[in-house]
Amino acid sequence: MMKKSGIKRIWAVMAALLFVAIAILPALSPAASAQEEITLIISEECTGEIVHLLGLNISTHVDPKQPLQDRIDDIIAQEGGMAIAAHPMVSTLVTPVLLSLHGYTGIEIYNAEVAETSRLLADATARWDALNSSLVLGGQALKWGFAVDDAHQGADIGRAWIVAMASGRGRPAIMSSLSRGSFYGTTGPAIEDVEVAASGTSRKITVTLEKAGNITFRKMGGVVVKKVYSSLSAAYTVTGCEGYVRVEVSSPEGKAWTQPLRVRNARTVSNPYAAGDPWLKGSVHCHTRASDGELEFDEVVARHIALGYDFLAITDHNVVTVP
Ligand SMILES: [Zn+2]
Ligand SMILES: [Zn+2]
Repeated sequence: MMKKSGIKRIWAVMAALLFVAIAILPALSPAASAQEEITLIISEECTGEIVHLLGLNISTHVDPKQPLQDRIDDIIAQEGGMAIAAHPMVSTLVTPVLLSLHGYTGIEIYNAEVAETSRLLADATARWDALNSSLVLGGQALKWGFAVDDAHQGADIGRAWIVAMASGRGRPAIMSSLSRGSFYGTTGPAIEDVEVAASGTSRKITVTLEKAGNITFRKMGGVVVKKVYSSLSAAYTVTGCEGYVRVEVSSPEGKAWTQPLRVRNARTVSNPYAAGDPWLKGSVHCHTRASDGELEFDEVVARHIALGYDFLAITDHNVVTVP
């Protein structure tokens, strides 16, 4: 009898535990568990009639009808906020306009959504080189280049993304990496390492890939200074007059673009990838049903998790989408 009632009590306790687990699980998921698997950066695409700006890591919608500089100012005035010029080739963001603005972090150098209709307009690297060349001559900080999906439906996810070298998976570490230019853009190829080392009285930039590809070194103006075919790594020794050196990779997987490494002289080359922290995969331009996307927020998040993304900024048109 004693034994039987003891077993009954155990069953009662187990049933109670199961009930508690069932009751609290929905409260923890999916938002809480999704947050652990992927870092969400609350954002919007501040969409004016012609010019679109990504406002990353913000909490308040920015009025798109204001002058461009005011829109940028309203984004970066929010704590940790970052402004990026979206698809500059399909806007009025020509180089003189980009040069007249300040406070933004960079521009989209590849937009996969634009590529669906025009490969030429999807690639803004020539404008990026024009912009950064003028900034070098003016002694100003360089603007970083972002590759993005601009995904509006499930099949759009994973066409172009960025890979950030970050000291942790939290939002501050990721945002800090993006503002330092410690990331590269890609439509496929994976970069393992970008190293700057002494080479005699000069500096040598070495790029290592995960899989062999064609590696092109470009200096100020986008001028090619070296190209190596079908290789896992390539090195370029600076002369000191380049202004900056950036690397492009092309392979059967697609294209990848490093940030420009500022060259002040043969011995002074900045390297945003010097920390050697882990690489994290991220998307900074994506839509949900809150604007003109096809999928609900949770589904967009789930699809990015399934594709191995570590961080995600959902940038709906003129609405800050929160989980
Ligand atoms: Zn847009
Ligand atoms: Zn968009």
